[in-house]
Amino acid sequence: MPSNIPFAKQLLSWFDQHGRNHLPWQKDRSGYRVWVSEIMLQQTQVATVIPYFERFMLRFPRVENLAQADLDEVLSLWTGLGYYSRARNLHASAIAIAEQHQGVMPNNLEALIALKGIGRSTAGAIISQAFNQPGVILDGNVKRLLTRLHHIQGWPGLSHIDKQLWQLATNLTPQQRNADYSQAIMDLGATVCKPKQPLCVACPMQTHCQALDNDAVAQIPTPKPKKALPQKTVSVLLLKNAQGQIQLQQRPAKGIWGGLWSLPEFADLAALQAQLALDGLPINTQPLPAIKHVFSHYKLTIEPHLLELQKQPRKVAENEQSRWYDATQLHTIGLATPIKKLLENNQ
Ligand code: SF4
Repeated sequence: MPSNIPFAKQLLSWFDQHGRNHLPWQKDRSGYRVWVSEIMLQQTQVATVIPYFERFMLRFPRVENLAQADLDEVLSLWTGLGYYSRARNLHASAIAIAEQHQGVMPNNLEALIALKGIGRSTAGAIISQAFNQPGVILDGNVKRLLTRLHHIQGWPGLSHIDKQLWQLATNLTPQQRNADYSQAIMDLGATVCKPKQPLCVACPMQTHCQALDNDAVAQIPTPKPKKALPQKTVSVLLLKNAQGQIQLQQRPAKGIWGGLWSLPEFADLAALQAQLALDGLPINTQPLPAIKHVFSHYKLTIEPHLLELQKQPRKVAENEQSRWYDATQLHTIGLATPIKKLLENNQ
C-alpha cells in the first residue's frame, strides 16, 4: 500500500455507500456511549449487542448514573453477554471518571488507557468515534483485514506481528473524517473481509490485496496454535425450601463469574453431601442432567443435584453472600448464564 491517502480515500468512498451508519451508538455520539458500545462489542456480535446497549443506556444514560449504581444491577443488565470482567471494569472506570475527571470522559490516549478495561484499540476507537480525532484502532476485524492485505504470515497474537500491525494501522490512519474512517475499517473487516468466505469480489481493496494475489486468503490470518483445554468438573446444589425458594450464593469478586449469583458449588458429590450432613439436612439429592460450558481457558462440566426440603431448614442462614430467592426475583440479580438456564428449567 503506497501511502495512507489512497487507502483511506478508497475506504471512505466504500463506506459512504456500504458502511453501517444507523447503529444505536452512532446516534447522540458521546465518549460514554462509544465506550460502552466498544466494551460490549469485544468478543460479541453487533446484533447481539444492540438490545443490551439499548437497555443499558435506558437505565444508565450518563456516566454518573453508572458510577452511582450497584455492581449487582450492572451485572444483571450484563447477564447473557458473558466475559463479566468487562462489566466490573466498566463500573469501576465509571467511578474513576466521576472521581478523577469530574464525570467527563477523557479524550486522550494516556488518560483512557489508565482506566480499567480500556486497551489501546478501545481508546483509539473512543478518540476517533466520539471525538473525531486520529485514534488508531486494531480490533480483531482490523487485524484480519491488515494481515490479508499485506499477506502477513504467523499468528497475530505474537508480539512482533502485533507490533507490525500497529505500525501499519498507524500509518494508514488519516487526519480527517476519523469517526467515519474507524467505523469504515471495522465494517470492511466485519462485513466483507469476514473470517470465513470473505467477499473478495465486492471488496474495494481487491486490487492491492496480497493474500488474494497469492491465493492465500483462506490461510490468513494464521490461527493460534491449538492446545487442548483442561477439563474441570464441579457439583452444584439446587436447594429448594418449603416455599419453593432457591438458595443462591454470591461468587467472589475475582475469578469466573466474579460477583454473580450462583448455586453453592462443591468439588464433587461427596463434598456436597458432607456439607448437607453438617447442616443437618437430608443427603438424598436427586441428580439433574450435567451442563457443559466452555471458557476460553478450560472446559467446565457442572453436575447439579436437587434437594427439595419439606420444612424450613434451621441451619441454612442468610447473609450478604447467601440468600433465598423466589423465581420472580431472579431477573433482578446477575446470574451466571448456565445457572440461569438450569433454574428456568427447574422452577
Ligand atoms: Fe479481505 Fe478479500 Fe478484500 Fe483481501 S480482497 S482484503 S481478503 S475481502
